[in-house]
Amino acid sequence: MFPLFFSYFNFTTSSSFCFLYLALFLLRLCYSTRIVPESVTVITTTETHNNNATWHDFSKFLHAEQGSHVSGMSELKKYFHRFGYLSETTSNFTDTFDTELVSAVKLYQKRLGLPVTGKLDSDTISAIVAPRCGVSDSSPHGLHTTRHFAYFNGKPRWVRDSPMTLTYAFSPYNMIDRLSITEIRTVFERAFNRWASVIPVTFRETEYLTADIKIGFYSGDHGDGEPFDGVLGVLGHAFSPENGRFHLDAAEMWSVDFDRDGSKVAVDLESVVTHEIGHVLGLGHSSIKEAVMYPSLSPRKKKVDLRIDDVEGVQALYGSNPNFTFGSLLQSENSSNDAAVGSETAFSKWILSLAIGLLIIFLCG
Ligand SMILES: [Zn+2]
Ligand SMILES: [Zn+2]
Repeated sequence: MFPLFFSYFNFTTSSSFCFLYLALFLLRLCYSTRIVPESVTVITTTETHNNNATWHDFSKFLHAEQGSHVSGMSELKKYFHRFGYLSETTSNFTDTFDTELVSAVKLYQKRLGLPVTGKLDSDTISAIVAPRCGVSDSSPHGLHTTRHFAYFNGKPRWVRDSPMTLTYAFSPYNMIDRLSITEIRTVFERAFNRWASVIPVTFRETEYLTADIKIGFYSGDHGDGEPFDGVLGVLGHAFSPENGRFHLDAAEMWSVDFDRDGSKVAVDLESVVTHEIGHVLGLGHSSIKEAVMYPSLSPRKKKVDLRIDDVEGVQALYGSNPNFTFGSLLQSENSSNDAAVGSETAFSKWILSLAIGLLIIFLCG
């Protein structure tokens, strides 16, 4: 009996080591696939044609303490004022990190789904310098605990006879050369259809003068009090219902295909267009990073699929498209986690079969 037991003991011990080693190896594999960040925000400071030196300059405020005095901090306050975090009464901004700035930082962190520290930590600075939409983040409704979408003041929406059709057109004078009109038209069609699939509204291209939504690419100051700023920085803006103005910064490296455009500052046209249509319909900015209505978008990043937050927000204004079901949306939101979940499931199955194998060896032994 003894030799048998001994041999069995040896076998299971070595198996256990083997198992442990393999388990650790696989665990490392699984873990390493899951810690890869979803996106890496590359803010290029070396681009000579980047006109947004001011925003990138904000990185010098990293870890600035409350009460400190840093030259140029008034510019950061102007940034917070522009996007709705510092009230208009505080017009004479100083370079001091005062309590108003702390409150602005906290509000900003809350609105952008960042840890609320009130400090200019690296997450916050990265978010501040990221390219973004020019529409202010201020919302009269404050933050909701479960819903993160927002509306403009007074919750305006388009009012038309049912079934609602909104028309759009491209400015005959304010377009760009880097993309063909066919490419631009295709992008807008796809983006409008995405919103139309969730609400009972259809979009149709028409003559510029009579169109509800007037689309154009503009440079610098273009007469609406919201000047564009060159490459990156502000990418575009659109006005609330029923204004219909839809403006994109002509200076961006607009792209419809990142394989074709190698530039580090290329911006996905369709992602920005999908976002701005949300504003045209009456949505404000969301604090959900994955939502189309989140205010910033990194260069070379594509984000075109409406998330539950976007859909709930727009449906609260227009109702649901009768053909729309949340089921399909839930499925697509879950599918983004499939890789991680898949490897985890495969790993659990492997562990289970190994355990069964060892049990069989134990019983047979
Ligand atoms: Zn926006
Ligand atoms: Zn404009």
